[in-house]
Amino acid sequence: MAANEQSSIDQLALDEFGSTLRGELVRPGDGSYDERRRVWNASIDRYPVLIARCAGVADVIEAVRFARTHQLLVAVRAGGHSYPGYGVCDDGMVIDLSLMKGIRVDPEARTVRAQAGVLLGELDRETQAFGCAVPAGFISHTGMAGLTLGGGIGFTMRKLGLTIDNLLSVDLITAEGEFVKASAQENADLFWGLRGGGGNFGIATEFEFRLNPLGPVIYAGPIFWPLDEAPRVLRFYRDWIADCPDELTTLVTERRAPATLAGLPPDLVGQHMIAITSIYAGSIDEGEKVVRPLKGFDSPALDRCAPMPYLTLQQLFNASFPRGGGTTSVRVTSPSSMTTSSTSWCSTASRSSLRSRPWGSGKAVVRSLASARARLLSTAGAPATRSTSAETPRAPRASKKSEHGSIDSGRPFSRITPACT
Ligand SMILES: Cc1cc2nc3c(=O)[nH]c(=O)nc-3n(C[C@H](O)[C@H](O)[C@H](O)COP(=O)(O)OP(=O)(O)OC[C@H]3O[C@@H](n4cnc5c(N)ncnc54)[C@H](O)[C@@H]3O)c2cc1C
Repeated sequence: MAANEQSSIDQLALDEFGSTLRGELVRPGDGSYDERRRVWNASIDRYPVLIARCAGVADVIEAVRFARTHQLLVAVRAGGHSYPGYGVCDDGMVIDLSLMKGIRVDPEARTVRAQAGVLLGELDRETQAFGCAVPAGFISHTGMAGLTLGGGIGFTMRKLGLTIDNLLSVDLITAEGEFVKASAQENADLFWGLRGGGGNFGIATEFEFRLNPLGPVIYAGPIFWPLDEAPRVLRFYRDWIADCPDELTTLVTERRAPATLAGLPPDLVGQHMIAITSIYAGSIDEGEKVVRPLKGFDSPALDRCAPMPYLTLQQLFNASFPRGGGTTSVRVTSPSSMTTSSTSWCSTASRSSLRSRPWGSGKAVVRSLASARARLLSTAGAPATRSTSAETPRAPRASKKSEHGSIDSGRPFSRITPACT
Protein backbone atom coordinates (compact mmCIF):
# COMPACT_ATOMS: atom_id res chain seq x y z
CA MET A 1 0.00 0.00 0.00
CA ALA A 2 1.39 3.40 -0.96
CA ALA A 3 1.62 6.34 1.42
CA ASN A 4 -1.00 8.25 -0.49
CA GLU A 5 -3.39 5.37 0.02
CA GLN A 6 -3.45 5.96 3.72
CA SER A 7 -6.80 7.61 3.26
CA SER A 8 -8.12 4.31 1.94
CA ILE A 9 -7.95 2.95 5.47
CA ASP A 10 -11.19 3.94 7.01
CA GLN A 11 -10.58 6.86 9.37
CA LEU A 12 -12.92 5.32 11.89
CA ALA A 13 -10.94 2.09 11.83
CA LEU A 14 -7.72 4.03 12.32
CA ASP A 15 -9.13 6.00 15.22
CA GLU A 16 -10.45 2.83 16.81
CA PHE A 17 -7.10 1.07 16.37
CA GLY A 18 -5.28 4.05 17.91
CA SER A 19 -7.58 4.23 20.88
CA THR A 20 -7.32 0.47 21.51
CA LEU A 21 -3.54 0.59 21.87
CA ARG A 22 -2.10 0.92 25.34
CA GLY A 23 0.92 2.40 23.59
CA GLU A 24 0.73 5.00 20.87
CA LEU A 25 -0.17 5.23 17.19
CA VAL A 26 2.04 7.66 15.29
CA ARG A 27 1.11 8.87 11.80
CA PRO A 28 2.65 11.16 9.20
CA GLY A 29 2.09 14.71 10.34
CA ASP A 30 2.33 13.88 14.04
CA GLY A 31 5.00 15.85 15.90
CA SER A 32 6.98 12.73 16.81
CA TYR A 33 6.69 11.05 13.38
CA ASP A 34 10.20 11.86 12.17
CA GLU A 35 11.78 10.82 15.43
CA ARG A 36 9.85 7.55 15.52
CA ARG A 37 10.62 6.50 11.94
CA ARG A 38 14.33 7.08 12.42
CA VAL A 39 16.65 4.09 12.98
CA TRP A 40 20.28 3.81 14.08
CA ASN A 41 21.64 3.98 10.52
CA ALA A 42 20.87 7.57 9.49
CA SER A 43 21.24 6.78 5.80
CA ILE A 44 17.92 4.92 6.03
CA ASP A 45 15.08 7.35 5.31
CA ARG A 46 11.74 5.57 5.04
CA TYR A 47 8.18 6.73 5.46
CA PRO A 48 5.74 4.27 7.01
CA VAL A 49 2.03 5.13 7.01
CA LEU A 50 1.62 3.95 10.59
CA ILE A 51 3.92 3.39 13.54
CA ALA A 52 2.27 1.28 16.23
CA ARG A 53 4.28 1.79 19.40
CA CYS A 54 3.23 -1.26 21.34
CA ALA A 55 3.22 -1.23 25.13
CA GLY A 56 2.56 -4.94 25.56
CA VAL A 57 1.54 -8.23 23.99
CA ALA A 58 -2.07 -7.16 23.49
CA ASP A 59 -0.92 -4.17 21.42
CA VAL A 60 1.25 -6.41 19.26
CA ILE A 61 -1.67 -8.78 18.61
CA GLU A 62 -3.91 -5.84 17.77
CA ALA A 63 -1.32 -4.36 15.42
CA VAL A 64 -0.76 -7.65 13.57
CA ARG A 65 -4.49 -8.13 13.12
CA PHE A 66 -4.97 -4.56 11.92
CA ALA A 67 -2.13 -4.96 9.41
CA ARG A 68 -3.66 -8.21 8.14
CA THR A 69 -7.09 -6.72 7.75
CA HIS A 70 -5.73 -3.78 5.80
CA GLN A 71 -3.03 -5.77 3.99
CA LEU A 72 -0.25 -3.54 5.20
CA LEU A 73 3.41 -4.32 4.75
CA VAL A 74 4.90 -4.74 8.24
CA ALA A 75 8.38 -3.92 9.56
CA VAL A 76 9.27 -4.94 13.11
CA ARG A 77 11.43 -2.65 15.16
CA ALA A 78 13.04 -3.44 18.51
CA GLY A 79 16.38 -1.68 19.13
CA GLY A 80 16.48 -0.14 15.63
CA HIS A 81 20.08 -1.27 14.96
CA SER A 82 19.54 -3.24 11.79
CA TYR A 83 22.22 -1.83 9.52
CA PRO A 84 20.10 -2.18 6.35
CA GLY A 85 17.16 -0.68 8.24
CA TYR A 86 14.85 -3.66 8.41
CA GLY A 87 13.12 -2.05 11.38
CA VAL A 88 11.34 0.52 9.19
CA CYS A 89 9.58 0.39 5.82
CA ASP A 90 8.10 2.68 3.24
CA ASP A 91 4.31 2.76 2.93
CA GLY A 92 3.53 0.13 5.54
CA MET A 93 3.20 -0.27 9.29
CA VAL A 94 6.09 -0.31 11.74
CA ILE A 95 5.35 -2.45 14.76
CA ASP A 96 7.63 -0.72 17.23
CA LEU A 97 8.46 -2.73 20.35
CA SER A 98 10.80 -0.19 21.92
CA LEU A 99 8.37 0.66 24.73
CA MET A 100 8.40 -2.94 25.95
CA LYS A 101 11.14 -2.71 28.56
CA GLY A 102 10.17 -5.25 31.22
CA ILE A 103 13.05 -7.32 32.70
CA ARG A 104 12.73 -9.85 35.49
CA VAL A 105 15.67 -11.72 36.96
CA ASP A 106 15.01 -14.93 38.88
CA PRO A 107 18.18 -15.28 40.98
CA GLU A 108 17.29 -18.74 42.30
CA ALA A 109 16.56 -20.25 38.91
CA ARG A 110 19.42 -18.19 37.39
CA THR A 111 17.20 -17.02 34.54
CA VAL A 112 16.04 -13.68 33.20
CA ARG A 113 12.97 -12.75 31.20
CA ALA A 114 13.18 -9.64 29.04
CA GLN A 115 10.65 -7.96 26.78
CA ALA A 116 11.45 -7.24 23.15
CA GLY A 117 12.24 -3.53 23.51
CA VAL A 118 15.13 -4.07 25.90
CA LEU A 119 18.58 -2.87 24.85
CA LEU A 120 21.71 -4.83 25.74
CA GLY A 121 22.87 -2.27 28.31
CA GLU A 122 19.51 -2.44 30.06
CA LEU A 123 19.74 -6.21 30.26
CA ASP A 124 23.30 -5.95 31.62
CA ARG A 125 22.23 -3.45 34.27
CA GLU A 126 19.55 -5.73 35.69
CA THR A 127 21.52 -8.97 35.48
CA GLN A 128 24.70 -7.47 36.96
CA ALA A 129 22.69 -6.52 40.04
CA PHE A 130 22.74 -10.28 40.67
CA GLY A 131 26.33 -10.84 39.56
CA CYS A 132 25.22 -12.52 36.36
CA ALA A 133 25.24 -11.90 32.61
CA VAL A 134 23.74 -13.05 29.34
CA PRO A 135 26.45 -13.06 26.66
CA ALA A 136 25.38 -10.58 23.99
CA GLY A 137 26.90 -7.88 21.78
CA PHE A 138 29.78 -5.39 21.87
CA ILE A 139 27.68 -2.22 21.77
CA SER A 140 25.27 -1.75 24.61
CA HIS A 141 22.64 0.30 22.75
CA THR A 142 21.93 -2.60 20.35
CA GLY A 143 18.50 -4.22 20.63
CA MET A 144 18.44 -7.50 22.53
CA ALA A 145 15.62 -8.88 20.35
CA GLY A 146 17.14 -8.44 16.89
CA LEU A 147 20.57 -9.47 18.11
CA THR A 148 19.27 -12.64 19.73
CA LEU A 149 17.19 -13.66 16.71
CA GLY A 150 20.32 -13.28 14.57
CA GLY A 151 22.52 -15.41 16.85
CA GLY A 152 24.38 -12.85 18.95
CA ILE A 153 28.15 -12.66 19.25
CA GLY A 154 30.00 -10.75 21.93
CA PHE A 155 32.89 -10.33 24.32
CA THR A 156 32.52 -13.62 26.19
CA MET A 157 31.40 -15.89 23.40
CA ARG A 158 34.31 -18.31 23.55
CA LYS A 159 33.38 -19.30 27.07
CA LEU A 160 29.64 -18.64 27.15
CA GLY A 161 28.70 -19.22 23.53
CA LEU A 162 26.35 -17.16 21.39
CA THR A 163 23.38 -15.37 22.84
CA ILE A 164 21.13 -18.09 21.37
CA ASP A 165 23.09 -20.75 23.26
CA ASN A 166 21.68 -19.16 26.40
CA LEU A 167 18.15 -18.71 25.10
CA LEU A 168 15.57 -20.85 26.93
CA SER A 169 12.25 -19.73 25.49
CA VAL A 170 10.52 -17.10 23.41
CA ASP A 171 6.96 -15.73 23.49
CA LEU A 172 5.83 -15.02 19.96
CA ILE A 173 2.89 -13.55 18.06
CA THR A 174 2.39 -15.33 14.76
CA ALA A 175 1.42 -13.73 11.45
CA GLU A 176 -2.15 -14.76 12.29
CA GLY A 177 -1.99 -12.73 15.49
CA GLU A 178 -1.89 -15.82 17.74
CA PHE A 179 0.25 -16.09 20.87
CA VAL A 180 2.61 -19.09 21.03
CA LYS A 181 5.52 -20.15 23.20
CA ALA A 182 8.64 -21.72 21.81
CA SER A 183 11.30 -23.63 23.72
CA ALA A 184 13.14 -26.93 23.52
CA GLN A 185 10.03 -28.57 24.98
CA GLU A 186 7.27 -26.61 23.29
CA ASN A 187 7.12 -25.90 19.54
CA ALA A 188 10.69 -27.10 19.33
CA ASP A 189 10.97 -26.66 15.57
CA LEU A 190 9.89 -23.05 15.85
CA PHE A 191 12.42 -22.53 18.63
CA TRP A 192 15.11 -23.99 16.39
CA GLY A 193 14.22 -21.49 13.67
CA LEU A 194 14.17 -18.56 16.05
CA ARG A 195 17.72 -19.31 17.14
CA GLY A 196 19.36 -17.50 14.25
CA GLY A 197 16.49 -17.20 11.80
CA GLY A 198 15.89 -13.48 12.32
CA GLY A 199 12.41 -12.00 12.15
CA ASN A 200 10.93 -14.59 9.81
CA PHE A 201 8.77 -16.54 12.23
CA GLY A 202 6.59 -13.96 13.92
CA ILE A 203 7.02 -11.16 16.43
CA ALA A 204 8.90 -12.18 19.55
CA THR A 205 7.51 -10.31 22.53
CA GLU A 206 9.56 -11.82 25.35
CA PHE A 207 12.77 -13.82 25.72
CA GLU A 208 13.95 -16.05 28.54
CA PHE A 209 17.69 -16.61 29.03
CA ARG A 210 19.91 -18.71 31.26
CA LEU A 211 22.16 -16.53 33.43
CA ASN A 212 25.89 -17.04 33.86
CA PRO A 213 27.77 -15.90 36.94
CA LEU A 214 30.08 -13.11 35.75
CA GLY A 215 31.40 -9.82 37.16
CA PRO A 216 30.97 -7.35 38.68
CA VAL A 217 34.69 -6.97 37.79
CA ILE A 218 36.50 -8.88 35.09
CA TYR A 219 39.98 -8.82 33.60
CA ALA A 220 39.79 -7.07 30.24
CA GLY A 221 40.99 -4.27 28.01
CA PRO A 222 43.07 -3.33 24.98
CA ILE A 223 46.83 -3.33 24.46
CA PHE A 224 48.29 -1.13 21.68
CA TRP A 225 51.36 -1.30 19.46
CA PRO A 226 52.38 1.00 16.58
CA LEU A 227 51.04 -0.35 13.30
CA ASP A 228 54.46 -1.00 11.80
CA GLU A 229 54.91 -3.66 14.48
CA ALA A 230 51.71 -5.42 13.40
CA PRO A 231 53.38 -8.34 11.54
CA ARG A 232 55.45 -9.26 14.58
CA VAL A 233 52.56 -8.72 16.97
CA LEU A 234 50.24 -10.86 14.86
CA ARG A 235 52.76 -13.70 14.56
CA PHE A 236 53.19 -13.69 18.30
CA TYR A 237 49.44 -13.52 18.75
CA ARG A 238 48.86 -16.47 16.39
CA ASP A 239 51.14 -18.71 18.42
CA TRP A 240 50.08 -17.46 21.84
CA ILE A 241 46.32 -17.66 21.29
CA ALA A 242 46.45 -21.27 20.12
CA ASP A 243 46.89 -22.51 23.68
CA CYS A 244 44.76 -19.98 25.54
CA PRO A 245 41.73 -21.32 27.41
CA ASP A 246 38.11 -20.75 26.29
CA GLU A 247 37.71 -18.19 29.04
CA LEU A 248 39.73 -15.79 26.92
CA THR A 249 38.15 -13.98 23.99
CA THR A 250 40.28 -11.52 22.01
CA LEU A 251 39.57 -8.87 19.45
CA VAL A 252 42.19 -7.53 17.06
CA THR A 253 41.68 -4.07 15.62
CA GLU A 254 43.60 -1.51 13.64
CA ARG A 255 42.81 2.10 14.41
CA ARG A 256 44.12 5.60 14.68
CA ALA A 257 44.95 6.41 18.28
CA PRO A 258 42.54 9.06 19.53
CA ALA A 259 43.77 11.99 21.63
CA THR A 260 41.30 10.88 24.31
CA LEU A 261 43.27 7.69 24.95
CA ALA A 262 44.71 8.47 28.36
CA GLY A 263 48.35 7.48 28.84
CA LEU A 264 49.26 7.37 25.15
CA PRO A 265 52.62 8.99 24.33
CA PRO A 266 51.83 12.30 22.52
CA ASP A 267 53.76 11.34 19.37
CA LEU A 268 51.41 8.39 18.84
CA VAL A 269 48.18 10.41 18.93
CA GLY A 270 46.54 10.14 15.50
CA GLN A 271 48.89 7.35 14.40
CA HIS A 272 47.64 3.99 13.15
CA MET A 273 47.92 1.37 15.87
CA ILE A 274 47.23 -2.30 16.21
CA ALA A 275 45.27 -3.22 19.32
CA ILE A 276 44.44 -6.55 20.88
CA THR A 277 41.58 -6.43 23.33
CA SER A 278 41.41 -9.34 25.77
CA ILE A 279 38.36 -10.33 27.76
CA TYR A 280 38.71 -13.04 30.38
CA ALA A 281 35.47 -14.67 31.53
CA GLY A 282 36.96 -16.16 34.69
CA SER A 283 38.83 -15.08 37.79
CA ILE A 284 40.89 -11.89 37.78
CA ASP A 285 44.02 -13.78 38.87
CA GLU A 286 43.67 -16.37 36.13
CA GLY A 287 43.01 -13.66 33.58
CA GLU A 288 46.11 -11.76 34.58
CA LYS A 289 48.16 -14.95 34.29
CA VAL A 290 46.80 -15.89 30.86
CA VAL A 291 47.23 -12.42 29.32
CA ARG A 292 50.69 -11.79 30.88
CA PRO A 293 52.69 -13.04 27.85
CA LEU A 294 50.81 -10.69 25.53
CA LYS A 295 51.33 -7.77 27.88
CA GLY A 296 55.02 -8.52 27.90
CA PHE A 297 55.41 -8.76 24.13
CA ASP A 298 57.68 -6.10 22.72
CA SER A 299 56.91 -3.19 25.03
CA PRO A 300 53.39 -2.16 24.00
CA ALA A 301 52.80 1.54 23.41
CA LEU A 302 49.89 1.42 25.80
CA ASP A 303 48.46 -1.29 28.03
CA ARG A 304 44.91 -0.78 29.26
CA CYS A 305 44.23 -4.43 30.08
CA ALA A 306 43.36 -4.63 33.78
CA PRO A 307 40.48 -5.47 36.12
CA MET A 308 37.46 -3.42 35.07
CA PRO A 309 33.74 -3.44 35.86
CA TYR A 310 31.85 -5.71 33.48
CA LEU A 311 29.43 -2.84 32.79
CA THR A 312 32.36 -0.64 31.72
CA LEU A 313 33.59 -3.31 29.33
CA GLN A 314 30.15 -3.61 27.81
CA GLN A 315 30.16 0.12 26.99
CA LEU A 316 33.80 0.39 25.98
CA PHE A 317 33.16 0.71 22.26
CA ASN A 318 29.85 2.60 22.43
CA ALA A 319 31.27 6.02 21.63
CA SER A 320 32.47 4.79 18.27
CA PHE A 321 29.00 3.72 17.20
CA PRO A 322 26.82 6.77 17.82
CA ARG A 323 23.31 6.97 16.46
CA GLY A 324 23.55 7.82 12.79
CA GLY A 325 26.20 5.30 11.90
CA GLY A 326 29.26 6.82 13.50
CA THR A 327 32.70 7.43 12.13
CA THR A 328 34.77 4.65 10.70
CA SER A 329 38.47 4.53 11.00
CA VAL A 330 39.33 1.07 12.22
CA ARG A 331 39.41 -2.37 10.76
CA VAL A 332 38.62 -5.43 12.83
CA THR A 333 40.81 -8.18 11.56
CA SER A 334 38.85 -11.15 12.68
CA PRO A 335 41.03 -12.79 15.30
CA SER A 336 40.74 -16.53 15.63
CA SER A 337 39.45 -16.60 19.14
CA MET A 338 36.89 -13.96 18.53
CA THR A 339 35.84 -13.97 14.90
CA THR A 340 34.38 -10.55 14.58
CA SER A 341 34.41 -10.61 10.90
CA SER A 342 33.82 -7.04 10.17
CA THR A 343 30.46 -7.28 8.47
CA SER A 344 27.25 -8.46 9.99
CA TRP A 345 28.22 -9.44 13.44
CA CYS A 346 26.24 -12.54 13.71
CA SER A 347 25.86 -13.83 10.23
CA THR A 348 28.41 -16.57 9.99
CA ALA A 349 27.61 -18.16 13.29
CA SER A 350 23.89 -17.98 12.97
CA ARG A 351 23.88 -19.37 9.48
CA SER A 352 26.02 -22.27 10.51
CA SER A 353 23.75 -22.68 13.45
CA LEU A 354 20.73 -22.92 11.18
CA ARG A 355 22.28 -25.13 8.59
CA SER A 356 24.00 -27.72 10.59
CA ARG A 357 22.88 -27.97 14.16
CA PRO A 358 19.37 -28.19 15.43
CA TRP A 359 20.60 -28.08 19.00
CA GLY A 360 24.33 -27.69 18.69
CA SER A 361 26.28 -25.19 20.68
CA GLY A 362 27.40 -21.92 19.14
CA LYS A 363 30.72 -22.64 20.79
CA ALA A 364 31.30 -25.37 18.24
CA VAL A 365 30.72 -22.84 15.50
CA VAL A 366 33.11 -20.46 17.18
CA ARG A 367 35.72 -23.19 17.39
CA SER A 368 35.39 -24.08 13.73
CA LEU A 369 35.63 -20.40 12.87
CA ALA A 370 38.65 -20.24 15.12
CA SER A 371 40.44 -22.95 13.21
CA ALA A 372 39.47 -21.35 9.89
CA ARG A 373 40.90 -18.13 11.18
CA ALA A 374 44.01 -19.83 12.46
CA ARG A 375 44.54 -21.06 8.91
CA LEU A 376 44.04 -17.51 7.72
CA LEU A 377 46.47 -16.16 10.22
CA SER A 378 49.08 -18.69 9.31
CA THR A 379 49.71 -16.23 6.51
CA ALA A 380 49.96 -13.49 9.14
CA GLY A 381 48.36 -10.22 8.34
CA ALA A 382 45.33 -11.91 6.85
CA PRO A 383 42.62 -9.54 5.66
CA ALA A 384 39.27 -9.07 7.32
CA THR A 385 36.82 -11.84 6.59
CA ARG A 386 33.94 -11.04 4.31
CA SER A 387 30.47 -12.09 5.22
CA THR A 388 26.96 -11.08 4.45
CA SER A 389 24.04 -10.21 6.65
CA ALA A 390 22.04 -13.02 8.16
CA GLU A 391 19.12 -10.77 8.86
CA THR A 392 16.19 -11.77 6.80
CA PRO A 393 14.20 -8.87 5.38
CA ARG A 394 10.60 -8.23 6.29
CA ALA A 395 10.73 -4.95 4.42
CA PRO A 396 12.29 -4.00 1.09
CA ARG A 397 16.06 -4.02 1.24
CA ALA A 398 17.88 -0.75 1.61
CA SER A 399 19.39 0.53 -1.59
CA LYS A 400 21.16 3.60 -0.28
CA LYS A 401 24.84 3.54 0.47
CA SER A 402 26.43 5.12 3.46
CA GLU A 403 30.01 5.97 4.14
CA HIS A 404 30.43 2.39 5.40
CA GLY A 405 29.44 0.90 2.12
CA SER A 406 26.16 -0.80 1.53
CA ILE A 407 25.44 -4.28 2.82
CA ASP A 408 23.32 -4.80 -0.27
CA SER A 409 26.32 -4.31 -2.46
CA GLY A 410 28.01 -7.17 -0.67
CA ARG A 411 30.70 -4.89 0.61
CA PRO A 412 31.61 -5.66 4.18
CA PHE A 413 30.93 -3.27 6.98
CA SER A 414 34.65 -3.38 7.28
CA ARG A 415 35.67 -0.25 9.04
CA ILE A 416 34.55 0.08 12.58
CA THR A 417 35.98 2.11 15.34
CA PRO A 418 36.18 0.51 18.73
CA ALA A 419 36.72 3.30 21.24
CA CYS A 420 39.12 2.09 23.85
CA THR A 421 39.18 5.18 25.93
C1 LIG B 1 26.39 -0.50 16.20
C2 LIG B 1 26.01 -1.95 16.04
C3 LIG B 1 26.63 -2.89 16.82
C4 LIG B 1 26.30 -4.23 16.70
N1 LIG B 1 26.94 -5.13 17.48
C5 LIG B 1 26.63 -6.43 17.40
C6 LIG B 1 27.28 -7.40 18.21
O1 LIG B 1 28.17 -7.06 18.97
N2 LIG B 1 26.90 -8.69 18.13
C7 LIG B 1 25.92 -9.10 17.27
O2 LIG B 1 25.62 -10.29 17.24
N3 LIG B 1 25.28 -8.21 16.46
C8 LIG B 1 25.63 -6.89 16.50
N4 LIG B 1 25.02 -5.99 15.67
C9 LIG B 1 24.01 -6.47 14.70
C10 LIG B 1 22.64 -6.49 15.39
O3 LIG B 1 22.58 -7.57 16.28
C11 LIG B 1 21.53 -6.63 14.37
O4 LIG B 1 21.53 -5.52 13.51
C12 LIG B 1 20.18 -6.76 15.06
O5 LIG B 1 19.18 -7.00 14.09
C13 LIG B 1 19.84 -5.50 15.82
O6 LIG B 1 18.72 -5.74 16.60
P1 LIG B 1 17.73 -4.54 16.91
O7 LIG B 1 16.62 -5.07 17.72
O8 LIG B 1 18.49 -3.39 17.47
O9 LIG B 1 17.30 -4.19 15.43
P2 LIG B 1 15.96 -3.69 14.72
O10 LIG B 1 16.42 -2.80 13.63
O11 LIG B 1 14.97 -3.15 15.68
O12 LIG B 1 15.41 -5.04 14.14
C14 LIG B 1 16.02 -5.63 13.03
C15 LIG B 1 15.18 -6.75 12.50
O13 LIG B 1 15.26 -7.87 13.38
C16 LIG B 1 14.00 -8.49 13.45
N5 LIG B 1 13.45 -8.32 14.79
C17 LIG B 1 13.88 -7.46 15.76
N6 LIG B 1 13.16 -7.64 16.88
C18 LIG B 1 12.26 -8.58 16.60
C19 LIG B 1 11.24 -9.21 17.35
N7 LIG B 1 11.02 -8.88 18.61
N8 LIG B 1 10.50 -10.17 16.76
C20 LIG B 1 10.72 -10.53 15.47
N9 LIG B 1 11.68 -9.97 14.71
C21 LIG B 1 12.43 -9.02 15.27
C22 LIG B 1 13.10 -7.81 12.45
O14 LIG B 1 13.22 -8.44 11.20
C23 LIG B 1 13.71 -6.43 12.41
O15 LIG B 1 13.36 -5.74 11.27
C24 LIG B 1 25.32 -4.64 15.77
C25 LIG B 1 24.70 -3.68 14.95
C26 LIG B 1 25.04 -2.36 15.09
C27 LIG B 1 24.38 -1.34 14.21
